[in-house]
Amino acid sequence: MPDPNGFLRYDRRLPARRPVPVRISDWREVYPPAGEELIREQATRCMDCGIPFCHDGCPLGNRIPDWNDLVRTGSWDSAVDTLHATNNFPEFTGRLCPAPCEAACVLGIGGGDAVTIKQVEVEIADAAVARGRLAPQPVPTPTGRTVAVVGSGPAGLAAAQQLARAGHAVTVYERDDAIGGLLRYGIPDFKLEKEHIDRRLAQLAAEGVRFRTGVEVGVDVTARQLRAEYDAVLLACGALAGRDTPATPGRALRGVHQAMSHLVAANRAVAAAGDGPVASAVLPDGTPVDAAGKHVVIIGGGDTAADCLGVAHRQGAAGVYQLDMYPEPPHARDAARDPWPTWPWVLRSYAAHEEGGERVFAAAVQEFVDDGTGQVRAVRIAEVTVEKRDGQRIVTPVPGSERELPADLVLLAIGFEGTEQQPLLEQLGVTRNARGAVDARPDWQTSVDGVFVAGDMHRGASLVVWAIAEGRAAAAAIHAHLGGHGRLPAPVDPAAQPLAAR
Ligand SMILES: Cc1cc2nc3c(=O)[nH]c(=O)nc-3n(C[C@H](O)[C@H](O)[C@H](O)COP(=O)(O)OP(=O)(O)OC[C@H]3O[C@@H](n4cnc5c(N)ncnc54)[C@H](O)[C@@H]3O)c2cc1C
Ligand code: SF4
Repeated sequence: MPDPNGFLRYDRRLPARRPVPVRISDWREVYPPAGEELIREQATRCMDCGIPFCHDGCPLGNRIPDWNDLVRTGSWDSAVDTLHATNNFPEFTGRLCPAPCEAACVLGIGGGDAVTIKQVEVEIADAAVARGRLAPQPVPTPTGRTVAVVGSGPAGLAAAQQLARAGHAVTVYERDDAIGGLLRYGIPDFKLEKEHIDRRLAQLAAEGVRFRTGVEVGVDVTARQLRAEYDAVLLACGALAGRDTPATPGRALRGVHQAMSHLVAANRAVAAAGDGPVASAVLPDGTPVDAAGKHVVIIGGGDTAADCLGVAHRQGAAGVYQLDMYPEPPHARDAARDPWPTWPWVLRSYAAHEEGGERVFAAAVQEFVDDGTGQVRAVRIAEVTVEKRDGQRIVTPVPGSERELPADLVLLAIGFEGTEQQPLLEQLGVTRNARGAVDARPDWQTSVDGVFVAGDMHRGASLVVWAIAEGRAAAAAIHAHLGGHGRLPAPVDPAAQPLAAR
């Protein structure tokens, strides 16, 4: 029986982040492990609510009060099993998830402090490693059915593990040189060290999943070949078509790049360095995109922009501005706009914001300014107002508010426009919808029988937790399609949406 007074006895506390000067001199994760005493205390704050609203915040349906109580009593092995019952990769979500479960926690009603659900999750996930409880679970009797998964992000990997454990022969195709999708080269090591991915890949391989890297389906292998060779195909290619701003004067100048170009180059440099010094980040054609000694302007206010900020500081930027066209959000939930337990619009300050740089709100770029040689030297910005009219976003500059920010490197982190148009889709005859995503029927099949879709490719740019949830659900649908024995868990259906008030 959980402690009903735990939240009265203990305040919400998180482990301290590593000091800024220390952490920006390396690429290791920002958070050190929490002590067992702290984490058991924090788990004690959970009230085991009659209606645990935290469940409604989490698309995976994680059994949060159950594992909170198991941690409270020190029953770590059971906590590991309970957590893995609904989540293939809690070490990813525990590190990366913005935690909609915490926004929905009953303790947050009226501005109270939610249980530190995400921190408890990551500690359980790490305990699984420390206690040797990630042993592979190969099936004794294969079904003889085969599945190709295209794309190796969290959606593809979650589906692959579910299907392999159900006895199907799964092959994951990835066009990149390493498995992991955005977790590998999109998200920096200071948020997710790559050993966590490698450990899971070893587990999946031991469970029978085959990986084929450096293979772009649609180019190196045709969709027709894949369909002939496999009983089912799952598309999990992400939503990697970056939004651009081609009409802004000066966009073609040297030094103006998509954020993902910068992040991928930086992550590759870190991966190549091992324990040695990290080389300067360059694009595949040798173009430098490193922030060392440069004035950097990051355009955008989301996860990608914050990751660029953290990378720029670790590379030794001379100064960084981060521009957001929207006004500064409130610091606490506006209950009239976003009532509990929905996800609130509030100012989100990531660890990267603690490390330096200046955030500029309600501002938009008017021009990238040439230094006379074709290289950007500044960004001309204006204060703006943003309003929605007939579904369109109208951005209006405030007259007389223009000014210049020095800039040698400009990074566009202004979002994604869905999945890329690529030969694979043309060969399959699958089209993108108005959002650039690929629609799924209620059983996760695309418009083509036997071809399924999951993750960002279906949902549009989203979160790791949704990618895992969709991967699990699509795996359940594929298992049923192949006539597999019993049913696999399906936490969401294709129409599922985050909790919202309207
Ligand atoms: C910079 C950045 C930071 C983020 N930070 C967070 C965060 O902190 N927390 C969070 O929850 N979410 C975060 N996200 C979002 C999260 O990473 C994605 O929602 C998630 O990775 C989507 O998973 P996925 O499996 O659908 O696709 P992806 O992870 O995008 O993987 C798709 C894979 O498919 C491969 N592929 C595409 N086409 C082909 C083909 N034809 N043949 C073979 N392979 C192909 C691609 O190379 C890619 O590896 C972040 C996103 C970005 C860009
Ligand atoms: S809503 Fe919060 S307090 Fe209630 S069960 Fe979930 S985590 Fe515990």
